[in-house]
Amino acid sequence: MIPVAEARQLIAQAVHPLAPVAVSLYEAVGLCLAANVHALCNVPPFHQSAMDGYAFRFSDLLLFDTLHVASEVQAGAWIDTPLQPGQAARIFTGAPVPPGADTVIMQEKTIFLSQNITIQDKNILKGANIRPCGSQTRIQDLLLPAGVRLSPAALGLLAGAGHASAPVLPPPVAGIINTGQELTPPGQPLVPGRIYESNSYALKAVLQQRGIRDIRLRTVTDDPAAIREAIQALLADCDLLLLTGGVSVGNYDFVQAALQACGVQQIFHKVQQKPGKPLFFGTYGPKPVFGLPGNPAAVLTCFYEYVDLALERLCGLAQKPLQERVLLAPVPKKAGLHVYLKGRLEGPGVRALGAQESYQMGSFADADCLIHLAAELENPPAGTVVSVRTL
Ligand code: AMP
Ligand code: MG
Repeated sequence: MIPVAEARQLIAQAVHPLAPVAVSLYEAVGLCLAANVHALCNVPPFHQSAMDGYAFRFSDLLLFDTLHVASEVQAGAWIDTPLQPGQAARIFTGAPVPPGADTVIMQEKTIFLSQNITIQDKNILKGANIRPCGSQTRIQDLLLPAGVRLSPAALGLLAGAGHASAPVLPPPVAGIINTGQELTPPGQPLVPGRIYESNSYALKAVLQQRGIRDIRLRTVTDDPAAIREAIQALLADCDLLLLTGGVSVGNYDFVQAALQACGVQQIFHKVQQKPGKPLFFGTYGPKPVFGLPGNPAAVLTCFYEYVDLALERLCGLAQKPLQERVLLAPVPKKAGLHVYLKGRLEGPGVRALGAQESYQMGSFADADCLIHLAAELENPPAGTVVSVRTL
């Protein structure tokens, strides 16, 4: 049995980023940028009108009472002929400002009469209503650095500077194997002695929340050959493998032996923690493999604390950082194990919920954080500063 900090350190050391791939920006939200990305063009690519109105020479304001509307520029059009003194160009939002013009007046501030305009706004400044070429981004400028998680705005920024795809750390293909003789899929009648299989639902959901879509799922009985067969099949296809149940020391717990028989190199088995003491972690080549406990609350706790850390290393999805909070009520605890409690944040404090046993999912569904109580802590009183990870 190893301490929590050592288990985390071993995972961080053993897991490395997946090879970067180029993905369409349409598929890239939430993914981590694998390289710096630079602008392919100036944005805007030309001096651009910010208004529907008229482009003109600012110096003409002092020279003419009216300006002759000599041309029209629509968005997407391009004019090479320079505007002559005394002329204006009808222009629309997004259209390139014709050469010679340096200012745009909005149409609401003009009077148009027989192809001439009078400018009503005497306070207009030179350069008004023009977005200068490159004023957002200059060609070759760094748009986003490696490591950024791509948000909708970041994707808009990249596309606007000419990129259709981006180099990202791809989401891993994930495998889930549930083991247990007693497991019945929800929706079917429950035979006496059996329970509904629920771990795959929670695990698949938390993976999906992290942008992982390709998830291979198997449920097997406590049969060593069946477990080995499922492990082999999923190890071939997946970048990350999660098993639940059968990882403890009972007579029907075959997962550890099956993983070893399939060539998974054990890095640790059993952590000084509650829940999740039997946690197994190993690697198959570069692929992380977790033997999670069977109890549903322990499964999710281990996911948030350990699998999330592996995902951070694998595909750059930063694990939520620990925060410090004050316990609002005393918590009974013996020294020895690091304890995770389902909790709720209340202002600057945190409250441990009831029903903390590892089979209890009602309290987990209520929780918005996991409270960490360090191994050496004993019966921490109200007011104790503890670490908390939000869910
Ligand atoms: P085990 O580690 O296999 O002894 O399982 C520990 C507890 O978790 C037992 O009560 C199992 O019935 C339960 N359990 C195991 N797998 C699942 C699952 N996929 N869904 C719900 N409960 C499970
Ligand atoms: Mg079992």
